[in-house]
Amino acid sequence: MSTAKRVFELQQVEQAVQTRLKSLDDLNRQLAHNEAFEKASTELADATKNQAELEKQYKELDWEAEEIRRNLIPVNDKLYSGRVKNPKELLGYEQEAEMLKARLGKKDDVLLDLMEKIEAGKGSLKLLREKFAAAERVWQQEQQELKGQIELLKAELADLENKRKEALAEVDREALTSYENIKKTKGQAVVRVEQGRCMGCRVMLSVSELQRVRGGTIVTCSNCGRILFLN
Ligand SMILES: [Zn+2]
Repeated sequence: MSTAKRVFELQQVEQAVQTRLKSLDDLNRQLAHNEAFEKASTELADATKNQAELEKQYKELDWEAEEIRRNLIPVNDKLYSGRVKNPKELLGYEQEAEMLKARLGKKDDVLLDLMEKIEAGKGSLKLLREKFAAAERVWQQEQQELKGQIELLKAELADLENKRKEALAEVDREALTSYENIKKTKGQAVVRVEQGRCMGCRVMLSVSELQRVRGGTIVTCSNCGRILFLN
């Protein structure tokens, strides 16, 4: 095998490694989070918090209404027991009872409104829990698949690493040094020659260049500096 072909094969193995490393990166990024699941999770958390807040408001208001009802008992007692005879005093109790009833009425209106909101909230919470559970199932499934793909890629990478070592052992030190140097500046160090052109820069090679390339030794393109490989 010519030196140029050996370097070319080393490059192919290295490029295959790079492609898989990039895929591995993509898969790990996908594994890090899932938009649909996170959205469902946030929606459920927000709705749960909102519902708890409504229930807390209801409890507090209900307690306040209960207190008004308790305060109303002795006032009503004085009004209707017949024990209080003084009209002025009776009028005072009547006014107090009216005031308490009006306050109670307002609280009851708000309580009713809150109760409706709580009931509606229960319905949407149920839906959001179902949505969350479904998103969680899908996400778990996806995670399994992603993990499977990652395992596969890792196995391929281990295999490629062995191939890379083998290919490296085949390349002589001098060729390897120029390969590494060109790779640093050009990215792709070895390029094919097709129809007399360097496929790295598309420039036509001279006859003497082509002849040297055919010899299989390390020849670099006089235009772009890459190692030329003719199959
Ligand atoms: Zn070139």
